[in-house]
Amino acid sequence: MSQNIQAVRGMSDILPSQSPYWHYLENHLIQLAHGYGYREIRFPIVEQTTLFKRSIGEVTDIVEKEMYTFDDRNGDSLTLRPEGTAGCVRACIQHGLLHNQQQRLWYLGPMFRHERPQKGRFRQFHQFGIEAFGMPGPDIDAEMLFMTARLWQRLGLKDHVILQINSLGTSEERAVYRTTLVDYFKTHQNALDEDAARRLATNPLRILDSKNPDMRSLIANAPLLSDALGAASAEHFESIKHMLDRAGIHYQVNHRLVRGLDYYSGMVFEWVTELLGAQGAVCSGGRYDKLTEMLGGRPVPAVGFALGMERVVALLETLLLPAGKDDDAILDVYFVLIGEECEQKGKELAEKWRDESPKLRLQLNCGGGNLKSQLKRADKSGAKVAFILGENELSSQTITIKFLRDAREQINVSMDQITNFEGIK
Ligand code: ATP
Ligand code: MG
Repeated sequence: MSQNIQAVRGMSDILPSQSPYWHYLENHLIQLAHGYGYREIRFPIVEQTTLFKRSIGEVTDIVEKEMYTFDDRNGDSLTLRPEGTAGCVRACIQHGLLHNQQQRLWYLGPMFRHERPQKGRFRQFHQFGIEAFGMPGPDIDAEMLFMTARLWQRLGLKDHVILQINSLGTSEERAVYRTTLVDYFKTHQNALDEDAARRLATNPLRILDSKNPDMRSLIANAPLLSDALGAASAEHFESIKHMLDRAGIHYQVNHRLVRGLDYYSGMVFEWVTELLGAQGAVCSGGRYDKLTEMLGGRPVPAVGFALGMERVVALLETLLLPAGKDDDAILDVYFVLIGEECEQKGKELAEKWRDESPKLRLQLNCGGGNLKSQLKRADKSGAKVAFILGENELSSQTITIKFLRDAREQINVSMDQITNFEGIK
């Protein structure tokens, strides 16, 4: 016998037992986005490799070692998207969505990164993303934070996540800081781990984000980026903090918070949880005012975030929140049909009822079986009631309704009256 084929490492199947959580989260996210006036944009999963190199940055982890890049049959280098912002901006520039206008957009879908698979870290994962263009802030920055805070509240996760914010300043300010930081690390060269030693020449700010405990004290004593901020950057950041204070949203200023993507500048944030171990970031974002220019468009102020859906689902599961009850997926009726004649009649009736009640969730028994085995399937299906059509019912033009979830006597209803039955309206 040939061997079973397994899914690609780090790429998960979402099984029917898990999909209610996903629907629940997706419904909340979409409702949230629409509630703040964001509209959906969809763009391809595959893009030109250059798009990601130019936007995310050549010397970031993502571009250096995590992208799924391949040549297609024309020899063009293509990449499975590792995140959404680059594709979203590319689409907006291409379709002229940023000319003298503001845009508030959302998207949702799979992303791909060739990382070492572990808890909360996959090679195919899903992000829900929000991007806002044409607004210099800080009001729109604060809107992002209010929105995400509201989401946690609605999902029942409010007490399990904490907001961390920082300001990365302008690229000029970061350049000055970079020199200071490199000088500092150089004087402690022996204490750098391998990753940090490499980063020192390419992306020294990223050293601040090291998860290596041995580097902790070195990083804690490093000069602060906040000290290198100019007046405008500092003021922008202060306004955001002020708005958070007024809204009663609790946060921590984390001076070490840097993002793994080069296009960020100004305010950055991360919502983190302690419940998921090392992979604690559930939602990350910030300002990226330079990205449209980097991709050949005119300068457009922009801010956005991406939420890691697997991690939020994991939180819901960990906390046993009632998200598993996805009402959309619960059947109203399981239709039991005994004998060939009833099977034929049942199909016709079911289609007629579907015409009359488009919201009806009815599953027809297929594959035969006696009453007992069909009722067993009915019970397993989760349906609220079983409709039974057997010889007796056929001759009296009725349906027997058996209540599967409450201790109610079964009833017999005329076939013509069935769409008035409260269970299937
Ligand atoms: P991390 O520090 O966890 O690697 P990141 O800085 O690479 O995250 P972003 O690129 O900003 O993360 O992505 C936004 C969100 O997407 C993260 O906060 C996280 O919730 C989620 N995410 C990122 N990479 C993965 C992955 N490999 N598997 C699952 N979720 C992920
Ligand atoms: Mg990462």
